[in-house]
Amino acid sequence: MAKLGYAVLCPDCRGFGERREAALQGEEENEFLNSTCFHLAHMAEPLGMTVIGMCTWDLMRLLDYVWERGEWDVESVGCVGFSGGGMQTLWLSALDDRIKTVIISGYLYGYSDSLLRLNGNCNCNYVPHLWEHVDMGDIGALLAPRPLMVQSARSDHLNGYRGMENVLEQLDVIKKAYDLYGKEDVIYHDIWDGGHCFHGENLEKFLNGVMEMK
Ligand SMILES: [Zn+2]
Repeated sequence: MAKLGYAVLCPDCRGFGERREAALQGEEENEFLNSTCFHLAHMAEPLGMTVIGMCTWDLMRLLDYVWERGEWDVESVGCVGFSGGGMQTLWLSALDDRIKTVIISGYLYGYSDSLLRLNGNCNCNYVPHLWEHVDMGDIGALLAPRPLMVQSARSDHLNGYRGMENVLEQLDVIKKAYDLYGKEDVIYHDIWDGGHCFHGENLEKFLNGVMEMK
């Protein structure tokens, strides 16, 4: 994003980087790549809290900071994230309209296949009981009518046993919400053949399209 000319803030998420819990701190490279979101989630849930709630709160405060700086074009603020970053992007953008452009990579699929059947995922992904009421597409519907890029990989194991079908079903829910605004054309589904990884090839094309819409 910086190479494309954007001012970029790249915060350490709770449980990652310099914000690791005591259990897995250390300065060696392999230690620095540890994540301790599991430890946070393990204690948050008994206390009636969620890691994604805490992360979203942090990111909202980061947006406050962006506004306070007073030097950036706050009407063009976007959020981009991959995997757990995609999860944070989804929730922040759904809950805070200050995000005007949304790029979610490797994190848009149905809860049942991807997060209940694949029960090896970190429990920072879960909001207790949420799946009984809404699916990920319903949360994504809150992004309408803002420009949205979703990156999915056909071989991403996190799509679940039905693969892209589990992605497309949720995207359809989102599209219905955009359709209410007559804005289905601002959703760009970027599909490629690889596994669970971010790719930047089409970012510029998408963002140029967003600029042209303004
Ligand atoms: Zn986690």
